Amino acid sequence: MLPPIHEAILTREERTLSKFGFLSKNSKGRRVEEPPCPIRLPFQRDRDRIIHCKTFRRLTHKTQVFLAPAGDHYRTRLTHALEVSQISRTIGVALGLNEHLIEAIALGHDLGHTPFGHAGESVLNELHPGGFRHYEQSLRVVESLEKKGKGLNLTHEVRDGILHHSKGFQKLLPQDTSKLPETLEGQVVRLSDIIAYVNHDLDDAMRAGILSPNQELGDICKVLGEGNSARISTMVNDLIDGTSRQNDGTLVMSEPILEATTDLRAFLYKNVYRASRVHDDFKKAMKILRELYQFLMEEDIKLPSGEVWGADIQYPADTPRHRKVCDFISGMTDRYALDLYSTLFFPKPWSVV
Ligand code: MG
Repeated sequence: MLPPIHEAILTREERTLSKFGFLSKNSKGRRVEEPPCPIRLPFQRDRDRIIHCKTFRRLTHKTQVFLAPAGDHYRTRLTHALEVSQISRTIGVALGLNEHLIEAIALGHDLGHTPFGHAGESVLNELHPGGFRHYEQSLRVVESLEKKGKGLNLTHEVRDGILHHSKGFQKLLPQDTSKLPETLEGQVVRLSDIIAYVNHDLDDAMRAGILSPNQELGDICKVLGEGNSARISTMVNDLIDGTSRQNDGTLVMSEPILEATTDLRAFLYKNVYRASRVHDDFKKAMKILRELYQFLMEEDIKLPSGEVWGADIQYPADTPRHRKVCDFISGMTDRYALDLYSTLFFPKPWSVV
């Protein structure tokens, strides 16, 4: 028997979601079964577990694009997750999808990101046996690292959405749907991730002076609009409109908007992510993480313990050292990595008493 308030919210969900919305009662559940919460549905509970976990708080000090930014207004990995959540919930509510499931996936999708953004990801991918992908690490955080290694015991649908959110440089709306999240909610987050980052990275690049406000964006702005807010609205409205018209449970964007969004991503790769001013910082960040990795892999070095990064994790006895070092480095904030590097490799001045 379900608690009465829980049951009332469940009934309301059935009344309000569209036929494509994922009903909480159809969840494949958690790895370890738990009694229901008196109030919250399972996806609300997952969202709360993510918000309250330490890894989520560390996103405050992790790079989005601009490293350990001195300016107060640059996006961080945390504000990125909030923007993805806000965009995807807007789309989800308009399409009658499960807003709680969307919110949990959106807030958890980047928990596995390294310090220094994609610079960190490429170093670990190069050094860690088997490579490193942030979306797999996000899943590892919620399954095996948080809560001293016990994990957050999230529902199947949230874990699936986290694992399958990444697109890399793939098509925004691929024909082959086998690698997409199982739920439409997860697919909305996957698309909202790119809607968020192409817009806020463009805005931050102008803030940083990498691009000028008058930068030639070709036809991109003619199609998407002038300014951050207008461009997000264009993409979001187009996706809601196309998907509602088609009404078959697949996400649809019109050809011109899809093409302009894809072009904007390509423009950012060429002019921002690979711009020398950004890339030179990336190279320095990569050197720091490479040297930390090599140092920490030496057997006689004791890995830090205590209330840092989550080093209180109880690992299974047969966990190889490289796995722990990879978890340690990927869990660091930018400032933690910089502090550790200076503690390990910079000489301390003598003090005279
Ligand atoms: Mg993201």
